[in-house]
Amino acid sequence: MSRTAASVPVAQLERLAELERLATDAARDLDDASANEILQWAAQTFGDRFCVLSSMGDAVVASLAAKAKPGIDVVFLDTGYHFAETIGMRDAVAAVYDVNVVSALPLLTVAEQDEAHGKDLFARDPDACCAMRKVAPMEAALVNYDSWATGVRRDESSTRATTPVVQWDARRRMVKVNPIARWSRDDVDTYIADNHILVSPLIDDGYLSIGCWPCTSKVEPGADPRSGRWVGHAKTECGINT
Ligand code: SF4
Repeated sequence: MSRTAASVPVAQLERLAELERLATDAARDLDDASANEILQWAAQTFGDRFCVLSSMGDAVVASLAAKAKPGIDVVFLDTGYHFAETIGMRDAVAAVYDVNVVSALPLLTVAEQDEAHGKDLFARDPDACCAMRKVAPMEAALVNYDSWATGVRRDESSTRATTPVVQWDARRRMVKVNPIARWSRDDVDTYIADNHILVSPLIDDGYLSIGCWPCTSKVEPGADPRSGRWVGHAKTECGINT
């Protein structure tokens, strides 16, 4: 459901060009800005057309965004394969912070997907499973916004090492905001401790990067946090941040 040039009228194309210019300028102007300043810029620039996308591993970005824009939509991709702890985190975030949690659902339930594509598609073709259960629901949800914030950090993996604080998402034709891109793991831990931020109990169990339970493994101390995702497959990203 990406917005393509062939599917939008001229006025919308002009709006998309404006969004791209905003992203390009902000990437340059906000490169040294704090996470709060970046989120305040996004909230003031996009208003209700700005949201957060959260996997509910922690509430760092949701809590920061709630300060910049009280009541902000926090989109959660409810794949049907989440740990019970992740669903608990979603409900806790909705209760504790001044945010509006929006659960985005896939077209098919897990049972319907099993019937249509065979049981446990995640084990045979995780790209196809992620496309149906994460990417398509996210893109359907994001049509309501011009900009979205993520918790992506440069130190998470080599594929994220050059993440800008603001970027033009050419595929979705949206402004992607990465307010904690420059933060280290220590920065995150300090912010969590100083502000008593909600964190998934799965973190303490050794799941340092949390996704769906069939595709998430515990990680040894000191290992790449994302090395526990899709173990046994070449896959490193689900497609929502690429
Ligand atoms: Fe499917 Fe695994 Fe992707 Fe979740 S992370 S959508 S279970 S392949």
